[in-house]
Amino acid sequence: MSTPSPVQTGREYLAIPGPSVMPDAVLQAMHRASPNIYGGEMVDITRSLVPDLRRVAGTAHHVAMYIGNGHAAWEAALSNTIAPGDTVLVPATGRFAHGWADMAEGVGAHAEILDFGKQSPMDVARIGDVLRADTEHKIKAVLAVHVDTSTSIRSDIPALRAMMDEVGHPALLMADCIASLGCDRFEMDAWGVDVMVAGCQKGLMVPAGMSFVFFNDRAEEVRAAMPRVSRYWDWTPRAHAEEPYQFWDGTAATQHVYGLRVALDMMHAEGMEQIWARHELLARAIWAACDAWNVGGPLTMNVADPAHRSRAVTALRIGAPHGTRLREWVQSKIGLTLGIGLGMDDPSDPKADGFFRLGHMGHVNGHMIMGMLGGMDAGLKALDIPHGSGALEAAAAVIAKT
Ligand SMILES: *Cc1c(COP(=O)(O)O)cnc(C)c1O
Repeated sequence: MSTPSPVQTGREYLAIPGPSVMPDAVLQAMHRASPNIYGGEMVDITRSLVPDLRRVAGTAHHVAMYIGNGHAAWEAALSNTIAPGDTVLVPATGRFAHGWADMAEGVGAHAEILDFGKQSPMDVARIGDVLRADTEHKIKAVLAVHVDTSTSIRSDIPALRAMMDEVGHPALLMADCIASLGCDRFEMDAWGVDVMVAGCQKGLMVPAGMSFVFFNDRAEEVRAAMPRVSRYWDWTPRAHAEEPYQFWDGTAATQHVYGLRVALDMMHAEGMEQIWARHELLARAIWAACDAWNVGGPLTMNVADPAHRSRAVTALRIGAPHGTRLREWVQSKIGLTLGIGLGMDDPSDPKADGFFRLGHMGHVNGHMIMGMLGGMDAGLKALDIPHGSGALEAAAAVIAKT
């Protein structure tokens, strides 16, 4: 055992891309005895979540809530719209697209994957070619991950919609906004998205355990024509709940409802434009630091073009074993936890030791990001990993421009 670090004790900082940092107000709201679930406050608060979730998603349409994580929302979205034997098209820019495709196979669909690798966004022209060739309209949905959290690639969902319209293909456009909702700009109706899935533990700042499927009237028509939908995933009673038990198909997610209520209040007090602007500015501060470290050192951002980078998560390459070493150093020495490299492994680096990720989603502000970057800078120095100087000055200069 190495000697204990003199600068370890204090508030820990979990800077991984989900679960994100939970606001104290959310945790305090959840710390209470369970309420009655059949009437009173719990029912009123649950109803009150619906218009506010819609506002966050930028939709005037429907939302079904589930007790489950993001994977549950993936399965729910598919279960309502995709029948066994249907085909879905999955443009992949990282591991999460492959995960959603796998889930589609699990409900009996054929998932056609268009893989764009781990460093570039979707090429909508290529997606258009595949849709154009599908003259029999076998493809029932395009499953598009807005921000793939493994690579931190952000894809252009409005451009994908425009391409689908240009081709005139009737497939549903489904978006995975589990990483991006409440961080990267997303406007469901304006962008023409038919189905959107999200979880509560990233931009929505609530401990994992709740997820959401938003859907429009087109998607509802597809649902109505399904031969059958598994009862638990059926979004119809949840989205059109009249009785309290219908929201959750059973016991309410009691403490989570209180937590989400507070999180949504915080989001509305700040405003969506301001939330997006905050994430944008903090991401730019991180990028400025990374650019400075990169001079003469191995640390590079996974996505070269800022236009294709998420504002919620940053995937980094630093070469094995430095990614793991740096993570272990900041965790054991200064109480900072960075994200593992996910889905970036290759034969020369089977455990992705050369990669790591920064989560900067949800309840994060300037001093937290400066602290995270400062901790990384200390780790690079302690471990003698070559790096350029001036990273913290560069980040501070970005934040100073507010
Ligand atoms: C986190 C995440 C998921 C999976 O969510 P879980 O809550 O871990 O099931 C899916 N897609 C994206 C883009 C994510 O960031």
